[in-house]
Amino acid sequence: MNTPTMSAPSDRRRVKYIRRLDQVPEIPSDELARLQPVAEEYVFRANNYYLRLIDWNDPDDPIKQLIIPRQEELNDWGRLDASNESAVTVARGVQHKYVDTVLLLCNEVCGAYCRYCFRKRLFMDDNDEVTNDVSAGLEYIAEHPEVSNVLLTGGDPLLMSTRRLVEIFEALRGIEHVRIIRIGSKMPAFDPWRVRRDEELQAAFRKYSTPEKRVYLMAHFDHPRELTDEAVAGIDTCLRNGVICVNQCPMIRGINDDPDVLAEMYSRLSYIGCPPYYLFQGRPTAGNEPYEVPIVRGWHIFQEALRRGSGLARRAKYCMSHETGKVEVVGVDDERIYLRYHQAKNPDDLSRFFVRRRDDDAYWLDQLEPVEAELAYAN
Ligand code: SF4
Repeated sequence: MNTPTMSAPSDRRRVKYIRRLDQVPEIPSDELARLQPVAEEYVFRANNYYLRLIDWNDPDDPIKQLIIPRQEELNDWGRLDASNESAVTVARGVQHKYVDTVLLLCNEVCGAYCRYCFRKRLFMDDNDEVTNDVSAGLEYIAEHPEVSNVLLTGGDPLLMSTRRLVEIFEALRGIEHVRIIRIGSKMPAFDPWRVRRDEELQAAFRKYSTPEKRVYLMAHFDHPRELTDEAVAGIDTCLRNGVICVNQCPMIRGINDDPDVLAEMYSRLSYIGCPPYYLFQGRPTAGNEPYEVPIVRGWHIFQEALRRGSGLARRAKYCMSHETGKVEVVGVDDERIYLRYHQAKNPDDLSRFFVRRRDDDAYWLDQLEPVEAELAYAN
């Protein structure tokens, strides 16, 4: 691995964030010239800790692919809001799609920007889907007793100040019917010190993650190389302070579309107390063509990884976060793809099993043709 030019953070020092590609000295000038227009279209952000994980000698390094733009992102492909989240937005920064779960999009920044992000529209200048003021969301949740789960998301909620996070925890714990508070965050991968060095945040976890009503960290590791000693210590800090940890990530071409890579990550995640929960099929989001894996190929990789990974990893589900619900891929044979609504926008669809014609080039549910067997299963 190259000796990095940017210095490594220590426990006592904050990681340093950068927003310009020309602040990454390892990118040669000709490549920089090619990539600048990409970073102008889809914003770039990284930090010295995460950049140090890149092996610059490997042109296909998975960590590099995760945060350094690629020219193919400019290909005309997909939509910015691929699963039509705007249709389930009930107030600014508040999404309510599944009966028991509300999402609060409370921050529009992340520790770095994953190139394959399905919410990259939130990082654009004209975004108005995120709000720092969650009062409308809290009011909405208080008025909906069916909401037992609240997911803090964005962007990354752990980039908010601890004071704001505590205010949100306090307000949510004041709503009797909210049982589970989830924090969707890639900070344990991008900046493990965020939790480790913040004793006030740790105290808040102990206070608000109670035996009856837990706080969950929905961590986002994509590759086993992100599971550094520091990242493992970050997860350990969460666990020791009462937070239940699980991992969810998409399958991403060039990063984790390999059964060995996925199996290693799943095993290690299980060992450290952060077992895999969902593996997502990448949404057909604008800019994401170079990162997409067809459904059938993804399913085979996932199955092979489960065979090799630890037993706890086998609880993971391979799902498409489709406009109509979380559609689990449960099987593929020579002719068909078998699917089930693991979550459904329309409660009548929940658990519904259905079948589509196998198409090895398809990336998304809408590309799959129904087959007659679907009618038989529906009845
Ligand atoms: S951490 Fe999540 S929201 Fe942030 S850029 Fe990555 S995928 Fe997008």
